[in-house]
Amino acid sequence: MIKDIKNFIEDIVLDIYNKLFSSKYVLKGKCKKCGYCCKNILFSTKDGYVKDKKIFQQMQKKYTYYRHFKISGVIKDDNEIRNNALTFECKFLSKNNKCLIYLIRPMYCRDYPNVMPEFIYGGLKPLKECGYYFDINKKFSEYLQ
Ligand code: SF4
Ligand code: SF4
Repeated sequence: MIKDIKNFIEDIVLDIYNKLFSSKYVLKGKCKKCGYCCKNILFSTKDGYVKDKKIFQQMQKKYTYYRHFKISGVIKDDNEIRNNALTFECKFLSKNNKCLIYLIRPMYCRDYPNVMPEFIYGGLKPLKECGYYFDINKKFSEYLQ
């Protein structure tokens, strides 16, 4: 419980930080309500993406938060870091792709896809199925520099 509150506070601080320092990027597009982002979640540990069911079960034992998710598939990718990473589906997603806890959904769900410059510089972007995309939000004067 204390850990959940701590995570929640960290999310809020991160959100404020991003809103203050990410003005060069904006989120465009709109949600297609496909639920794809709730069914294709990746988790990672200090050793990288979770690729082993047993590791995930250990995580579920240690942190109740992970019990809200079930394995939905596995990624096949040329990128070795992502290859064989497990994907997870949130148990709060209904069959018709509605969030069953929409009003009290976690901050990271409210923020997806988050405009974080350090992620964007690292090449991260919304899922290709997502209706959102990142765009540069330069001031006109900056184009003239
Ligand atoms: S809590 Fe709701 S919005 Fe967040 S992942 Fe689950 S279904 Fe999606
Ligand atoms: S993947 Fe993008 S478009 Fe689909 S539900 Fe999530 S936020 Fe909306």
